Amino acid sequence: MNAISTSAASNSAASPIALEVARRRTFAIISHPDAGKTTLTEKLLLFGGAIQLAGHVRAKRDRRSTRSDWMAIERERGISVATSVMTFEFEGHVFNLLDTPGHEDFSEDTYRTLTAVDAAVMVIDAAKGIESRTRKLLEVCRLRDIPIITFINKMDRESRDPFEILDEIEKTLALDTTPMTWPVGRGRDFVGTVDVATGGVRLLDGDEGKTGPLRKMSPAEIAALNVTLDAGALDDELTLVREGCNSFDLDSFLEGHLTPVYFGSALRNFGVGDLLEGLGRFAPPPRAQDADKRRVEAEEGRMTAFVFKIQANMDPNHRDRMAFARLCSGKLTRGMKAKLVRTGKPMSLATPQFFFAQDRQLAEEAYAGDVVGIPNHGNLRIGDTLTEGEEINFVGVPSFAPEILRRVKLSDAMKAKKLRQALQEMAEEGVVQVFRPTDGSPALVGVVGPLQLDVLKNRLDAEYGLDVGFDTSEFQLARWVSCEDGKKLEEFAAANRLSTADDLDGDLVFLSPSAFMIGYTGDRWPGIVFTDVKDVK
Ligand code: GDP
Repeated sequence: MNAISTSAASNSAASPIALEVARRRTFAIISHPDAGKTTLTEKLLLFGGAIQLAGHVRAKRDRRSTRSDWMAIERERGISVATSVMTFEFEGHVFNLLDTPGHEDFSEDTYRTLTAVDAAVMVIDAAKGIESRTRKLLEVCRLRDIPIITFINKMDRESRDPFEILDEIEKTLALDTTPMTWPVGRGRDFVGTVDVATGGVRLLDGDEGKTGPLRKMSPAEIAALNVTLDAGALDDELTLVREGCNSFDLDSFLEGHLTPVYFGSALRNFGVGDLLEGLGRFAPPPRAQDADKRRVEAEEGRMTAFVFKIQANMDPNHRDRMAFARLCSGKLTRGMKAKLVRTGKPMSLATPQFFFAQDRQLAEEAYAGDVVGIPNHGNLRIGDTLTEGEEINFVGVPSFAPEILRRVKLSDAMKAKKLRQALQEMAEEGVVQVFRPTDGSPALVGVVGPLQLDVLKNRLDAEYGLDVGFDTSEFQLARWVSCEDGKKLEEFAAANRLSTADDLDGDLVFLSPSAFMIGYTGDRWPGIVFTDVKDVK
């Protein structure tokens, strides 16, 4: 048990809410496609008994069909409703695993999901090391100092030297590493791992799916398992690990500066139990969240939550949406009335839902760290705050500058007004970002993954009867601009009318054909700040 949960559990005066909070661990898995996220997810869920059959998550993915058919996209998205968050219990902890869509459907949802977690598991393919997507997702974790636990996967295959992988993490991610386990043998000769602190052993053959007590074996006994192993060399290597690597420092981990590293094979369900135990021991319980007027502690009695993701429903005739809200404090009970702070209106939480691997279930009660789905007809937006009456808004659900900008081309010019409305709604739902150029030219849409454009096109057609296409634009990049001096900002906007736009909230955005141009403009306008991340208010 870690220091935090021990203190909460041993404090007999702790409120029931504090006890519930202390046992929650809300996390995401970040990785590059094919590193093994799906396989690891399946195995983690198996530990929690959340699914009986490993392979379930994969079966879902394989059912995905072509991206050209809008129903298929929605179906795929519908399926991903069930896998957006997965809750399971293990050894007294409640784990909420939030899915970060990983493959071609990489989108802003992926980024935003990371604003709703308290820790992340970084999965690295032992043969490939750090890959581009992992680096990008880690940068997003960095924005919030999210602690990272590392799982080096596919140790059952040819892999790189473990020291080299650790070195790469330290150098390219600027993250200190502490190996918690150490692999014995490489590739085909990989026989298991040694627990660095105790010297206890797990064997690839025989200890699959295990947690808890380790085997006691001498280096000679381990070396006897495989002709390529040499007891002396093994002993030297472990000495080097113990003396040469950083020792684990909980504070440094919690601040996001150091990552504990586990080696294993998700496919063989090896090392996954140790990773899960590590998550329970070291990952923090739900953190305090910053709101505009104050910081909200997870143990507070009154319910607060924020919406970080909206999922459209599958039926195109109904504008039903599922809003995913992360609880930040208090207790949510089914049927309670909440206040939607943006509008000031009350909202009855009649059917909040929990998600398990393949099921959903009405959530009778939920606590900080939990994620509930709230069905609604479009009244909830990304970034919305729900409270029991208090006028606060959570900050920190960000918008990220899009990586792809396209000009929306409408086949029927008579429908411009309808398009405007439709784009507004799609932007509120977080499907795309919309930028309205100051010079009155047609709107630009911004996305981080190309599938978002497919989804937008298909939904505009199916739900609004709008036939649109996308033209490449002279602009490649969008940056939010701000300035402490309001007058200067106005001057900037006036002088750059041909390359500025308003976003969904009416905030000023600078559109640029290149990074060079942003730098150049910045030099000419000292005091104007260009940013690629914006907090949703
Ligand atoms: P994702 O794209 O990150 O979700 O990766 P998947 O879980 O779909 O895995 C990608 C491929 O790697 C699949 O063929 C898996 O069977 C394989 N794989 C995943 N984990 C392991 C592992 O530990 N060892 C081996 N040999 N293959 C693995």
